[in-house]
Amino acid sequence: METFQALILNNPDELFAAELQSLPITALPEGEVLVQVGYSSLNYKDALAVTNMALVVRQFPIVPGIDLAGVVQESHDERFKPGDRVFATGWGLGEKYWGGFAQYARLKADWLMPLPDGLDEQQTMQIGTAGFTAMLCVMALEKQGVTPASGEILVTGATGGVGSYAIVLLAKLGYQVVAATGRAAQLGDYLKSLGAVRIITRLEPTKRPLAQPEWAGAIDCVGSQTLATVLSQIHYGGSVATCGLAGGGDLSTSVYPFILRGVNLLGIDSVMQPLSQRELAWSRLAALMTDDRWQVMQSRVVRLDQVLEISPQLLAGTSHGRTVVAC
Ligand code: NDP
Repeated sequence: METFQALILNNPDELFAAELQSLPITALPEGEVLVQVGYSSLNYKDALAVTNMALVVRQFPIVPGIDLAGVVQESHDERFKPGDRVFATGWGLGEKYWGGFAQYARLKADWLMPLPDGLDEQQTMQIGTAGFTAMLCVMALEKQGVTPASGEILVTGATGGVGSYAIVLLAKLGYQVVAATGRAAQLGDYLKSLGAVRIITRLEPTKRPLAQPEWAGAIDCVGSQTLATVLSQIHYGGSVATCGLAGGGDLSTSVYPFILRGVNLLGIDSVMQPLSQRELAWSRLAALMTDDRWQVMQSRVVRLDQVLEISPQLLAGTSHGRTVVAC
């Protein structure tokens, strides 16, 4: 193929523009491996990038899309050969480097991994950065000694991509998961099918630094006042994995949960995780996502030309589950 379709973001003279373009293969940036992209996925960060709602993109023009999976076409690195099925998440794709919302991508070999055992391209992208992040959160809680016997685990932003995977993974590992959501009436049954034992409404802001201890651990996708409230409700010695800011990037709290209850706040970043952690997380994801879990996890597949129209829904919190992009 001499030309390919790509979503391009640009800001000439600070005038942001996003459009699907047909480009020659020669327009791709340098890299060791040329990949024909089969699927990408639409993450919260991608929705921010394509709507220009936050400073996600650090270099224009750019192809957004922080995730991609596809087939190697050309490789100048001995780890990959034409025909290999590969994927990449993070590493600055769709932020600093051209990412997955295109039919072709040229990448550094260091960013690529073989598809996880037993998963195809579409499943890998259904998991994508969201599922990977949820797995990293679970692993962080485990490392702090949070076990299924410790007590209930709270997941906030429960109906989103990270939240949905957090519930599935925790439940599959035997944890008692409580889902906090703004959409209990519409999506409570969905959250229970994922494995939540109880559904609660979104947490109210609190001024109290310490409240009744309720949770042995938590995975927080929301940030801001929600995270402050979560911290005030954690058991003595419990842990909170913080990964998101769907409710805001600020955090106003006090030292009391930390110095009086020994609470651990665990920061989770999916973008720059080293390869060893990625391999571990993805092998666990592939094993935990059994057929019955694939059946309950809701996702939709959209076309590349629908990304611009669908992104505002993600930011408005009116979509749920995962959005896979067929390239
Ligand atoms: P989604 O948009 O799929 O889900 C976010 C969920 O948060 C929504 O479904 C909604 O759940 C809840 N929510 C949305 N708006 C608000 C609000 N104003 N106040 C409270 N809750 C809200 O996003 P993802 O799951 O993909 O990502 C979640 C967060 O994690 C994002 O902030 C994203 O940037 C971050 N993230 C961070 C990563 C990292 O490496 N640290 C990697 C991946 C994501 P409900 O209606 O059920 O309450």
